[in-house]
Amino acid sequence: MRPYLLAESSWKDVKGEKTQVVVLPWGATEAHNYHLPYATDNYQIEAIAAEAGKQAWEAGVKVKVLPNIPFGVNTGQADIKLDINLYPSTQLAILSDIIEVLNRQGIYKIILLNGHGGNNFKPLLRELGLKYPKMLLVMTNFFQTVDKNAFFEEQGDHADEMETSLMMHLQPDLVLPLEQAGSGKENKSRIAGIREGWAWAERQWTMVSEDTGIGNPYKATAEKGKKFFKAVSQKVGELIKDVAEVDIENRYEFE
Ligand SMILES: [Zn+2]
Repeated sequence: MRPYLLAESSWKDVKGEKTQVVVLPWGATEAHNYHLPYATDNYQIEAIAAEAGKQAWEAGVKVKVLPNIPFGVNTGQADIKLDINLYPSTQLAILSDIIEVLNRQGIYKIILLNGHGGNNFKPLLRELGLKYPKMLLVMTNFFQTVDKNAFFEEQGDHADEMETSLMMHLQPDLVLPLEQAGSGKENKSRIAGIREGWAWAERQWTMVSEDTGIGNPYKATAEKGKKFFKAVSQKVGELIKDVAEVDIENRYEFE
């Protein structure tokens, strides 16, 4: 029984406890090249949330990690079989209900731990922040917590060297041999601004990638995944501690 995971806690433990901060992991269910499972984002974010929660708990923080939400925004992958899409407006409704519960019960701090590139929580937190002024709403994308260049040879953003390495470390039984993986080649946009990264349009996945991957997975190793997992979990653990300890009314430094 891990007391920092709500899923494993009982009413007996939770009843009298003064919960300081709640962590909500949020993943996605989608194809990840030929070699990784559909729940890749969920396995990753659940493991990071649990490890970070553990570290914060051991540092004395009363944190509760909520169960992961397994479906994310997959509007660009409508034609990829069984990629399950939640609209951003559905996410807003789910998040709004969860935050209402916390606010009513006087638990004023939540960290959204995002595991999927299509989930964009900033606009949702802006809207909810105005509606729940007592709450401190924080989010982080796990894939931006540390510099990936320090851990991986090739960059990508879907079923790439990073995700493949992480899964080799976390769920090796669910990773198919790399010779079965596609190359993760990304077809570039014909629009210069999009190609150069300063303009944006949602990617039409079947036009962008043949194997659903974006990023070369072939240089992935479990050892790389282990190091990255450790670094990310530590950063997130520190974030949980910082958020738990800060006084919401006095959270900025003045000269
Ligand atoms: Zn992923």
